[in-house]
Amino acid sequence: MRLITKFDPWGDPLCTCPKKYSLSPYVGCSHSCAYCYITSYIPDGFRCREKADFLARLGRDLARLRPGSLISMANSSDPYQPIEAERGLTRSALGRLLPLGHRVLLITKSDLVVRDSDLLAKGNCSVSISISTIDDRLARRLEPLAPSPSRRLRAMGLLSSRGIPCSVRVDPIIPGINDDPGGLKRLIAAAEGAGCRHVIASTYKARWDDLRRVLRAFPEVAKGLRGLYAEGGMAVGGKRYLPEVLRRDLLLMVKEFSEDLGLSFSTCREGFPELGSAGSCDGSHLIPLRIAARLMDEFLDQGR
Ligand code: SF4
Repeated sequence: MRLITKFDPWGDPLCTCPKKYSLSPYVGCSHSCAYCYITSYIPDGFRCREKADFLARLGRDLARLRPGSLISMANSSDPYQPIEAERGLTRSALGRLLPLGHRVLLITKSDLVVRDSDLLAKGNCSVSISISTIDDRLARRLEPLAPSPSRRLRAMGLLSSRGIPCSVRVDPIIPGINDDPGGLKRLIAAAEGAGCRHVIASTYKARWDDLRRVLRAFPEVAKGLRGLYAEGGMAVGGKRYLPEVLRRDLLLMVKEFSEDLGLSFSTCREGFPELGSAGSCDGSHLIPLRIAARLMDEFLDQGR
């Protein structure tokens, strides 16, 4: 079975991502976010385990990949799981992908990504750090085993200072939980202060399995949320969306906060591509072409 697979093989009608591939060294994700959708289709989804024969299989897949491909790491398992500190599969994958000139978009909630800044600063790579709130206590309820938002922001600051372009994923926004305008404004300001250049916002799209977990973790908003998703929202590709007017209002608010600070903005799977002000919806436009540039320099040097 291939490790490097087409992103979004199901063809989500609202996905506006550029053509890209997906690569995960691990199955499952131990961050255990209440709102996470993986438990709907990955058995024992919050138990992280490494993929069998990962490096051998990666080598075979890389031999088939066109140079300069866009690869997203990772989408249903954070590439910086706690066991990555010891196992190093993500680092090994980066060590193979980046020298070949592939473009890598890392998506993570972990400050462990800073460990790999030596590789990232030399390759075609951008890091997207997911932060749904800067309130560490609220984050503990939403994302119980993920590193705190303060640690993620520190990581963003370090990566940016080492020349690695960063975006922030404000994802998911859940009414009554993390949609407070003051909190969202502080989040965007903190990300901007940490060198972030682009904001991707997305509202919570619920599946029954994760909605049940969110309602259990936040009983104080359960009634309102149930009403919004069950009665007011709409169904798209097996998920329940918030009512369109509410989604647009929430996203416009984050857009305004972002653009006021000079950050570009996009939305993820919302059906509002017109709200975007950047070259991509996923932050991949930030990826610098360092390897191609270096090869060209070497080529020119040889001709002098
Ligand atoms: S980090 Fe992502 S994949 Fe992991 S549990 Fe949280 S939402 Fe799910």
